[in-house]
Amino acid sequence: MNGKNKLPLRILTALAAGVLVGVVCHFAGWSGWAAAYLKPLGDIFVNLLKLLVVPVVLLSMIDGILSMGDLKQVGTVGVRAAAYFLATTAIACVIGLFFASLFQNAGWFPDLQGQLGEAEYEPIPFEGFQSVLVNIFPSNLWSAFASANMLQVIVIALLFGGSILAAGERGELCRDMAGALGAVMEKLMEFVISLSPLGVFAYMAWITATQGAVILGSLFLVVLCAYLGYGAHGLLVYSLSARLFAGMSPARFFRGSFAAMVFAFTSASSAAALPVSRQCAQALGAREEVAAFVLPLGATINMDGTAIYQCVATVFIASCAGIRLSLAQMAVVVATATLAAVGTAGVSGAGMIMLAMVLEALGIPVAYIGLIVAVDRLFDMGRTCLNVSGDIACALCVSRWQGGKRRGLHWTRA
Ligand code: ASP
Repeated sequence: MNGKNKLPLRILTALAAGVLVGVVCHFAGWSGWAAAYLKPLGDIFVNLLKLLVVPVVLLSMIDGILSMGDLKQVGTVGVRAAAYFLATTAIACVIGLFFASLFQNAGWFPDLQGQLGEAEYEPIPFEGFQSVLVNIFPSNLWSAFASANMLQVIVIALLFGGSILAAGERGELCRDMAGALGAVMEKLMEFVISLSPLGVFAYMAWITATQGAVILGSLFLVVLCAYLGYGAHGLLVYSLSARLFAGMSPARFFRGSFAAMVFAFTSASSAAALPVSRQCAQALGAREEVAAFVLPLGATINMDGTAIYQCVATVFIASCAGIRLSLAQMAVVVATATLAAVGTAGVSGAGMIMLAMVLEALGIPVAYIGLIVAVDRLFDMGRTCLNVSGDIACALCVSRWQGGKRRGLHWTRA
């Protein structure tokens, strides 16, 4: 086993050790200590990852576009990936609603009508689809980078990657520069990833120490409902994707994606998990240029776990407010949660902010998000794990759809 292959094992050991330390801290009443001394270690690690997110997405996508060599191929890969993302996210919504309705019908979601005061949550106003669309197009290169607005960064990568291709020989220097910068980023990523067991340990210990009581409390059922949805979607949709489209056994898919899944679970950020998911996808045999293009796109717009969470949370909050959703309202949930998931940034906690959009579409008071704020991190870990698995599944499927034969572990062009 070489150093890279040991990473999943190291991360898993760190996760188990973190839970153990967290449980001890929780019961010994040292949660404050864990928050003060362990969490900062995890924060440092996540800061380093955040530092990499913009350059990795930008250079990875430009690299993907340049290695595809022509704009037509970029178009087909983009359209295929987007079709996969949208279809699986819509299925995720249906699965989320299915489990949430089961729980509601079983009477496991409370009806708190009359007892709900002003739940503490200050929603960010949703400004409408037009302004969301307009804001995807950046007016300033640097402000897009500085604010890490990933949809804008993707647009910049598409425009610049496409233009370097179109410039042909005269753009040669830029092509070489993008390649050289990409190589440097890869080394930096390797270094930061090698620190991941430490980050995973620190975060797990902190979360278990501080959220232990909440897991045991009344919100347990709604978190369980979301996790059933995550599990069902992963087993159903990604197993089928792996078997039918990517030509590999589900067991191999999940084994190969394991490091990225554990990493996403602990960091709760698809964008931060990008370097690891790229390694996993390539080790599973995804074409290099497809993985380089599809994974950053997926980490920004493909959020099946988030969609499930938003559906479950919507039904739960509606139930607390004494509302039962009709079939037509559920259709609205599927449509808005799919869009909200696309608009969710691949960072921790973003899915809860976009939940406001779904609630608003149904006329449910957005302030009721306050009911589940305390456990958002628990939802977030599972949904990010699923989000990242979906990105890897898509990279493998699109690699296959682009044609070519797999030689050993790598695809070659037909
Ligand atoms: N944390 C999720 C992700 O990065 C987004 C969310 O909050 O739903 O994939």
